Amino acid sequence: MRDDKLCQLTIHEAHELLGQKKLSSLELTMALLQRINEVEDKIHACVTITEDIALEQARQADEHISRGEITPLTGIPVLVKDVICTRGIRTTCSSKMLENFVPPYDATVVEKLKAQKAVILGKTNMDEFAMGSSTEHSAFFPSHNPWDVERVPGGSSGGSTAATSAGEAIYALGSDTGGSIRQPAGFCGVVGLKPTYGRVSRFGLVAFASSLDQIGPITRDVTDCALVMNVIAGHDSRDSSSVPHVVPDYTKNLNSRGRSLKGTVIGVPREYFPDNMQGEIKTALVAAINRLQELGATVDWEVSLPHTRYALAVYYILAPSEASANLARYDGVKYGFSEQNAGSVIEATEKTRQFGFGAEVKRRIMLGTYALSAGYYDAYYLKAQKVRTLIKQEFEQAFEKYDALVTPTSPTVAFKLGEKMEDPLQMYLSDVCTLPINIAGLPAISVPAGFVQNLPVGMQIIGKPFDETTLLDIAFAYEQATSWHERKPML
Ligand code: GLN
Repeated sequence: MRDDKLCQLTIHEAHELLGQKKLSSLELTMALLQRINEVEDKIHACVTITEDIALEQARQADEHISRGEITPLTGIPVLVKDVICTRGIRTTCSSKMLENFVPPYDATVVEKLKAQKAVILGKTNMDEFAMGSSTEHSAFFPSHNPWDVERVPGGSSGGSTAATSAGEAIYALGSDTGGSIRQPAGFCGVVGLKPTYGRVSRFGLVAFASSLDQIGPITRDVTDCALVMNVIAGHDSRDSSSVPHVVPDYTKNLNSRGRSLKGTVIGVPREYFPDNMQGEIKTALVAAINRLQELGATVDWEVSLPHTRYALAVYYILAPSEASANLARYDGVKYGFSEQNAGSVIEATEKTRQFGFGAEVKRRIMLGTYALSAGYYDAYYLKAQKVRTLIKQEFEQAFEKYDALVTPTSPTVAFKLGEKMEDPLQMYLSDVCTLPINIAGLPAISVPAGFVQNLPVGMQIIGKPFDETTLLDIAFAYEQATSWHERKPML
């Protein structure tokens, strides 16, 4: 098989070839490393490439396979967002603060991948500490969108989605606090799932906003997404927010072609088609939802979730507040960057944080400490928490009637590099459709649902807590009936 075909395989396709001994993990890994080599100067998706580790893991995987020890992720190369700790491999969060930080332990998700003999190709670029929507807030370099390299791949998991789309890895892991898996997945034409809060362990995920953060898969199709979920989901005694629910087999319903959605009731909340939305996106989404209807789903186009309009404000109180507390640990003493050239401890801390953090991170810390300060706590933080409850209740009511809600993933397609860097509010607005879902702790998936000016459009499907199965089923039926996910960017 030609190398560029190898690089665009799905997990399940590669697994089949590995199982039939038509392909070795080493061949696949070498093809991807070569591809990374070829396209990285255009895409800049990776912060660290662990070639030696990957080749060694691939050899080991091949040994396991030769003994008949093979599971769906065995020998399949993956890239990991650089906010997820990898033992012995530096984990930077795309920040100067952690530029040379080498964790002494693996995140639980990484441990789980390694237990399946996955092959880790390296770590992907992101907005610093996962704060942003374009990957331009990386302290190192911006990543580029494979569909148009003058555009952003989205963020903050933009490195992971760009790499998956550009054929640099078979799949990737991302993290999502307000949309950072789904929004860049939409921008890059790949599948991205934010699991229910508590579904996937966050042990070893560098904390941004602890009541919102979740790790999830970024893949080329829905089946792959289910396969990765089968491995990474589940309780972890090292993460007290993880939930001891049984992990279902997420692939169980995904084998029948031409599946009907008869009996599935879908709601379309009108607030998710905001005024700032590009007209063509609305058109693409209407066509996609019509498709769901043709597949047998009952669609209610008249759903209203009025508290959605407060979600952005609530998020930008709560997320920075939590971030300001989580980032207090970077004081130049415990680990990470440390400015030694100072006359006092206070000055050393100040200089460490002044140099170690970028502008967006500082902005969040200031917003957060302000919202939490004695005089303003009730007016901002507490009020935001109350509105959060209302948003959550509104979703609960909707889910008494609907199996899932469907919205666009973003109000626009991928924007130009630099376009929103001077205007933080415009940048924040690119997550209006995804933030409310984190606020309510719900699962949501973004799947390719069309193109506008040759740029991918994402459809977001939102589900009940711990009902990732229904999301994947709907997404799979849609995917089987369309071919958007088969298009690849020309690089
Ligand atoms: N773009 C949002 C933010 O900047 C969400 C980021 C994320 O999900 N990590 O906070």
